[in-house]
Amino acid sequence: MQVPFLNLRAQHDPLRQEISAAIQEVIDSSAFAGGSFVAGFEQDFAMFCGSRFAVGLGHGTEALWLALLALGVGPGDEVITVPSTFMATAEAITYCGAKPVFVDIEEQTFTLDPNLIERAITPKTKAIIPVHLFGQVADMDPILEIARRHGVPVIEDACQAHGAEYKGKRAGTLGAAGCFSFYPGKNLGAMGEAGALVTDDSRLKDQVAMFRDHGQRKKYHHAVVGWNARMDGIQGAVLKIKLKHLAKGNDARRRHAALYGQLLASETALRLPVTAPDRKHVYHIYAVRVQRRDAILEAMAAKGVHCGIHYPIPVHLQEAYQSLGLGKGCFPVAERCAEEFLSLPMFPELTVEQIETVARELKSVIRALGVA
Ligand SMILES: *Cc1c(COP(=O)(O)O)cnc(C)c1O
Repeated sequence: MQVPFLNLRAQHDPLRQEISAAIQEVIDSSAFAGGSFVAGFEQDFAMFCGSRFAVGLGHGTEALWLALLALGVGPGDEVITVPSTFMATAEAITYCGAKPVFVDIEEQTFTLDPNLIERAITPKTKAIIPVHLFGQVADMDPILEIARRHGVPVIEDACQAHGAEYKGKRAGTLGAAGCFSFYPGKNLGAMGEAGALVTDDSRLKDQVAMFRDHGQRKKYHHAVVGWNARMDGIQGAVLKIKLKHLAKGNDARRRHAALYGQLLASETALRLPVTAPDRKHVYHIYAVRVQRRDAILEAMAAKGVHCGIHYPIPVHLQEAYQSLGLGKGCFPVAERCAEEFLSLPMFPELTVEQIETVARELKSVIRALGVA
């Protein structure tokens, strides 16, 4: 049996007619760049998150970047984040002319370790960006407490955590702003590129809305040099429909994770993902940790089970960031995780048979390779 890593076609097939009709409506109204379809989605997404405002943007990277700009981050400043993330988190910091300062992750949750933040704070620290990696919210209470003590805002990289919860509050609503990506493969995915920022702060919302539209407050009146970071009307219309299915999709992902957990619990060569008791995970990625990961990935693919690696190289070891002078050994947990992470197939439409196949093949590959 073939098990794909992700199957977007299966997600879209039941929605095909509804989405086609919505796209037709956009065509009929010509509201292609920003406009009413984006505004409609913004309203629904803010409501879903439990936030006052949502601002639709071109992609998640832009949400992170414009949040930093709106908070006044600029050249010479430092922004704290983790090396265990997608490159975009650090890129957004670099776009502002600021320097990413990395802090290692927790062994259990793979998110920013609050115990290591304080020693990384300097007078130049202007923001902290915890990443809710794989769909689990970072330990926000201690992070916010440290940030408050130092007068530094917290921006959540919630690009993998649509609908995840921390002590009953949704990802993106805990810090000054929450940044989301609607890249097609995310838990809420557009049919193209899209992103959003959510916040309760009307000044921050106005600022980001101005930046996304060439610094305009009023048509052809440019208060600042801005950018073009608008969301497409078609993406707004598609996302408004897909948002209605997000909670159900997240529930299915949690069920699949529980089944993986049950089927793989006895496999001592694996370290299964752990959800902290005060959190609700949305399993954008279901990553196990295992030795000889690359050999296992290859052997699984040969059996038709397609796994992934998120991410093979931590950001501080990327060629692009060699100038930071951070070598191997700087962030041992992130580095060990990067060597051991193996992402199993995870999407709402997975069947029980597929999950059983993945678990069975994984155990047999581990045995065949003699992995301990
Ligand atoms: C996807 C992602 C981003 C970037 O989002 P885009 O929409 O692709 O620009 C940023 N951070 C994390 C953690 C992501 O997973």
